[in-house]
Amino acid sequence: MTLTGMTPAAQPADTHCPYCSLQCGMRLRRVVSPPPDGPGVAVEERPEFPVNRGALCGKGRSATAVLAPGVRLTAPLVRDRRTGRLREADWDEALDRAAGGLADAAARYGRDAAGVFGGGGLTNEKAYLLGKFARVVLRTANIDYNGRFCMSSAAAAQRAAFGLDRGLPFPLADIARTGCLILVGGNPADTMPPAMRYFQGQQAAGGKLVVVDPRRTRTAETADLHLRPAPGTDLALALGLLHLVVAEGRVDEEFVAARTTGWEQAHAAAMAHWPERVERITGVPVAALRRAVELFCDAPTGMVLTARGGEQHSKGVDTVGAWINLCLATGHAGRPFSGYGCLTGQGNGQGGREHGQKADQLPGYRSITDPAARAHVARVWGVDPDTLPGPGRSAYELLDTLGTDGGVRALLLMGSNPVVSAPHASHVTERLRALDSLVVCDVVRSETAELADVVLPTAQWAEEEGTMTNLEGRVILRRAALAPPPGVRTDLDVLHGLAERLGVEKGFPTAAEEVFEELREASAGGQADYSGISYARIRAEDGVFWPCPSAEVGRRPHPGTPRLFHDRFATPDGRARFADVSHRPAAEEPDAEYPLRLTTGRVLAHYQSGAQTRRTPELQRAAPGPFVELHPRLAARLGVAEGAPLTVTSRRGTVTAPARVSDRIRPDTVFMPFHWPGPGRANTLTNPALDPVSRMPEFKVCAVRVEAADAGAGAGEER
Ligand code: SF4
Repeated sequence: MTLTGMTPAAQPADTHCPYCSLQCGMRLRRVVSPPPDGPGVAVEERPEFPVNRGALCGKGRSATAVLAPGVRLTAPLVRDRRTGRLREADWDEALDRAAGGLADAAARYGRDAAGVFGGGGLTNEKAYLLGKFARVVLRTANIDYNGRFCMSSAAAAQRAAFGLDRGLPFPLADIARTGCLILVGGNPADTMPPAMRYFQGQQAAGGKLVVVDPRRTRTAETADLHLRPAPGTDLALALGLLHLVVAEGRVDEEFVAARTTGWEQAHAAAMAHWPERVERITGVPVAALRRAVELFCDAPTGMVLTARGGEQHSKGVDTVGAWINLCLATGHAGRPFSGYGCLTGQGNGQGGREHGQKADQLPGYRSITDPAARAHVARVWGVDPDTLPGPGRSAYELLDTLGTDGGVRALLLMGSNPVVSAPHASHVTERLRALDSLVVCDVVRSETAELADVVLPTAQWAEEEGTMTNLEGRVILRRAALAPPPGVRTDLDVLHGLAERLGVEKGFPTAAEEVFEELREASAGGQADYSGISYARIRAEDGVFWPCPSAEVGRRPHPGTPRLFHDRFATPDGRARFADVSHRPAAEEPDAEYPLRLTTGRVLAHYQSGAQTRRTPELQRAAPGPFVELHPRLAARLGVAEGAPLTVTSRRGTVTAPARVSDRIRPDTVFMPFHWPGPGRANTLTNPALDPVSRMPEFKVCAVRVEAADAGAGAGEER
């Protein structure tokens, strides 16, 4: 690997981890004599960055492993028409093939037959330019991204309640100062360990932590109270808590009257969820419900944070709405150290959904159906607003119809690995295979890249500049520490090359800062207003919170907005809106044929589809493969011991993985991590039933049957 691109030579570069939404600050320093097969930079702590203050988890510490030659792609690949295999090609051939495939599909089937699928790990600049590429070059409605699978339910619920969606409406440090924190379906001890200092700080200061999770996770072990509802019943749980708040006279009437609307309906719905009914639905004892309400209402300040466990459901929006209702009714919202927040997942899950790679959005969190928003963005892009397409299909619906009549026939996929990470993954794999043309931009030869007609090797986090927006809404700057190896280009270069080949010569710069300058203008006046943020400011301030308009405040630049909603909510009347929600069952409930619930999630050592972390030796050693976590009583009933091979079957297929026997899980539920492909791929089983509002698939619960695997018991069978 060349080190000549280090900027400036031998100087350390302050940047951020490539993985989760915490976006931990780190310093990269050149290795004087790197081994031939090792990365040319080493990770150091950066204690002055305020979010992680130097702490890194194992994923961050080992992130340079994927920079090493031999691990990553260093030349474009095209599928040889004679042999049917991927072979190396030069960039001109690869880009010609990629652009040709997109153009052919549009010419034969119409513009919407060319599609784009992005990722929540892309920088703001890439996400912005990808959306512009879809709308201006391809003029297709069909663009969406894997962030739809991540935070879309929380985003929709926040917009409904508060008029604005930002993961956390306060800095992470505020968590340490709240009186009672309810954490729903999140396990930061494994997913973002450096964040635990804030949870521990909160308890050390006398605050109470309530964790809602069907598993006794490492986070749950630290809680003052752990509620273990059956997967898919969080909505009933939140309604039951609200019922008790009302029944015990703990409603903050003054706050409800002054700062909210819609209480009557929310109150009526809660009254229909009395504690004994909720205990029957959730399995959480009435006494535990009462204790949770006592802790939350006794505290002078309170927060509810949700993560994927509470959100990835076919009723995810209603579930988050019910938790927000609890905050509003108790007055734990719109005040210092109180409120609802979402622990976003992917590195740029927040920024990725603000700047135009979502099917229904334009940059600045503008709606693609709003004529004024279309006119503003079209002016920045120098096009006629009437040429901009309308909303397209959501992520799963886009994947589900690939290669079909009326569906996308040629797909450009950037920064995503749906063969492992999409629900009903065997079906999605089949649909990807049915495409006329699949173009994948990635740093490694992922499982999805294996199906591609063209694979374009792209630069990685340590080799590029660009902004990311972390879970707090803090816009930070990723800085290049070294040049990408020869044969690798940036995603911005790729979009430039494709646009040029498709007849659009201008408007696709390759310098990230130039793209950001245009993004500022496109976002100006929108909800996610970045117009007052510049690279220089981010460097000087170590991040700026949006919204940050360009207008001055008291003759000084706008300071950004670390805390939202203290004066008013972002709704037209300034009041928060209660959600009118009631419990309903999961899309698939256990029955005689499939008597157990499956829930899925992550492990400490791996990140998302594992495309990078499975290629990192120390992480792969720590967690080498999938497993099925099951309760000792269930294991005894099945007659299996630790490590015995199990088959897990849902209506969508069968997978095989070794048993991990643990009383951390409910006896009626099994857990599988979703990082691996092959016969143990958890997403072979998951249910693509969608939330009617957010279009979030039901990753977190489906009905399964578990059996001891005998030789040849249909491992990895797909239906
Ligand atoms: Fe990276 Fe997240 Fe770990 Fe921080 S917590 S080092 S951002 S994976």
